Amino acid sequence: MTAAEIDGEGRQALEHLWALQQVDSRLAAARASRAALDDGSALRAGVEEARRAAAESAARLHECQATIKDHELQLASTEAKQRKIEGDLYGGRISNPKELSSMQEELVMLARTRDHLEDQILALFDRVESLKEDASAADAARRAIEERLATHLAEYEAARARLDAEIDTLTAERAASAARVEPRLLKRYEGIAAQEGGVGIVPIQNGLCGGCHNQLPTGFVTRVRDGQLVICERCRRILYLGAA
Ligand SMILES: [Zn+2]
Repeated sequence: MTAAEIDGEGRQALEHLWALQQVDSRLAAARASRAALDDGSALRAGVEEARRAAAESAARLHECQATIKDHELQLASTEAKQRKIEGDLYGGRISNPKELSSMQEELVMLARTRDHLEDQILALFDRVESLKEDASAADAARRAIEERLATHLAEYEAARARLDAEIDTLTAERAASAARVEPRLLKRYEGIAAQEGGVGIVPIQNGLCGGCHNQLPTGFVTRVRDGQLVICERCRRILYLGAA
């Protein structure tokens, strides 16, 4: 097996191709970082959830407070009825024993209703205290995650702007760098890079291919040094001899 070769490109052509590879690698890294940026979707969902929880908690508190108000009104109306009947009962205007007895019975019933309402109101007061604590905790959790999202979004926007600017700069640099490479060689490099993870040209390191670490046949180094286009037999990448 012999390595695929294209003669006459020269060391200069390989230097230009190597320079292009450096720009392409930085461009690929910047694009990968840009794509990997977290736009805050997960945090945003968390904020929505926290807002819903806080709203539900506040609604439960308001409902309980409304129930207390309702019970207090019932209590006031019950007490008013009691006072009215007591006034009639002890006013001396009613003497019919049957009527008096029925009024007594109603007073007993009203007293029972009042006791019941008072018990309920006391229990609701306990409940309202616990609901206030819940609502306050839910609101604090909502504020905390909203702040986290705001901080995250500010960082995200900054990183995105920085990477977009870097990608713009590198894209311009790439165009200038690619213009220095002979079109046929450029096409070949791009074809290899497209198939080999963006890497079309690799340095020879201690006689090994810098891409696949395959031991290169003797003579490859000399031919690369002579400026020949030599392709690694295993990974098909163009071989480059570093300046070092
Ligand atoms: Zn290789």
